[in-house]
Amino acid sequence: MAFGSPVLSAECSFDPYWWRAAPHEEKSAPAVPRATDVAVIGSGITGLVAALHLARGGRQVTVFEAREPGHGASTRNAGYVGRSLKHGFGELIESHGVDFALAIYRELMEAFLAVKETVAEEGIDCHYRQQGRFLLATSPAMYEAMAREFALREKHLGEPFAAVSRAEQRQEIGSGHYFGGVRIADHAGLHPGLYHQGLLDAARTAGATIAAWTPVTRMACDGQGFKLATPRGVVETRDVVVATNGYSGDAFPWLKRRIMPFEAYQTVSAPLDPAVVEQLLPTDRTYIDWNFNVDWFRRVPDDPTRIVFGGLTGARNQDLRIMAERLHLRLTRIFPQLADVRFDHVWTGKCAGTFDIYPHLGQHEGIHFGAGYCFAGVPMGTLFGRKMARRILGRKGGDSAFDRLLPTNPLYWGNPWFVPYAISWMSRKDR
Ligand SMILES: Cc1cc2nc3c(=O)[nH]c(=O)nc-3n(C[C@H](O)[C@H](O)[C@H](O)COP(=O)(O)OP(=O)(O)OC[C@H]3O[C@@H](n4cnc5c(N)ncnc54)[C@H](O)[C@@H]3O)c2cc1C
Repeated sequence: MAFGSPVLSAECSFDPYWWRAAPHEEKSAPAVPRATDVAVIGSGITGLVAALHLARGGRQVTVFEAREPGHGASTRNAGYVGRSLKHGFGELIESHGVDFALAIYRELMEAFLAVKETVAEEGIDCHYRQQGRFLLATSPAMYEAMAREFALREKHLGEPFAAVSRAEQRQEIGSGHYFGGVRIADHAGLHPGLYHQGLLDAARTAGATIAAWTPVTRMACDGQGFKLATPRGVVETRDVVVATNGYSGDAFPWLKRRIMPFEAYQTVSAPLDPAVVEQLLPTDRTYIDWNFNVDWFRRVPDDPTRIVFGGLTGARNQDLRIMAERLHLRLTRIFPQLADVRFDHVWTGKCAGTFDIYPHLGQHEGIHFGAGYCFAGVPMGTLFGRKMARRILGRKGGDSAFDRLLPTNPLYWGNPWFVPYAISWMSRKDR
């Protein structure tokens, strides 16, 4: 029994599966310049996309990363590329009117396309594929609500969908656990490790310097520009991009007070009989339920005999052996056929929520930031990185419907102790 747990294989690793194909770089201590045109803090998708476009735009760019490049959620996620927001289109029409709903959802489409364009323009070989998504209903009422929501999106945004009833759902999934679902044919999936690796290579080729193992500990504005404190000395810069999302800390306390980090947990199974995978996930889409606190699963893009399974977002217990057992239980409720499955990888990563449950792009005291992706940072981080670069370069296309007041709570100083309780309340509501 590996690690004292019956659900872990003898080879189980607590590193993300994605690092097999895109291993993280060895610890190094590159020279850090005394001055740079633009300092980008964080080397995930957001930071690297910003750095890439800024360097192409002729700026001298340094990316500061506290750990190894890609330490954060960008190499730990599930690789779902969609147009997701916790606020439904219908809800936004009711609360803010149709123009606001359209502006927000059109930008989700821009973000979705930004990934496709980036993969094509940079020639990133990361198994990007528009395999479609199957969104799952966990109750009859949810199925009805989904059908209404997606009919509205089709009417106003021209985005086609197909409602698949419980009686028909076996075409899409070998499970009787759900109450039907919605198929969105053009949603995509990718290999997160290889996408990040491609962005890192592209940013370096464009001329950006990656200063790994160099945390920015403090920032001060002197009227002309900024001084950044790092353990390797002070760096002067004209512009700053903060791209630290769920890993945001004390360097930018204003953001820390507005971002709530929380953990999400993910597993990859040991190889399964291909016939079993074919039976469980016959259409090879990305699958996710429509709850607030979601379960998700898909075939592994570079080894389709394995299944990625994730969930328990925001849960308090961070012992990965216990989380693996809880995830195994959830997996076998959906697919009882997988009772004997063992996990080869179990890991976690930090996401970021905001008090209004929107992603945010903006500027505070001259510092650019993109954060609070609420689980959609693959497309939104790609788009916000690009938009922040355009803003700094003074180019068109930097405007955003997500550039709105980023709220905080007077009692919140950056310790998200209440998140597990809030999420477990949401999960009860889901049930
Ligand atoms: C398990 C899991 C599954 C997910 N699945 C999906 C999915 O399928 N689709 C999707 O769209 N989103 C998904 N997400 C969310 C998505 O991964 C994130 O929103 C996205 O990667 C955020 O990218 P980022 O570049 O903004 O931040 P990150 O990739 O988190 O990078 C932030 C970086 O900043 C660095 N840093 C922090 N402070 C400092 C400092 N002071 N100095 C220097 N460096 C610093 C950190 O070390 C880190 O490397 C998932 C997340 C998790 C955890």
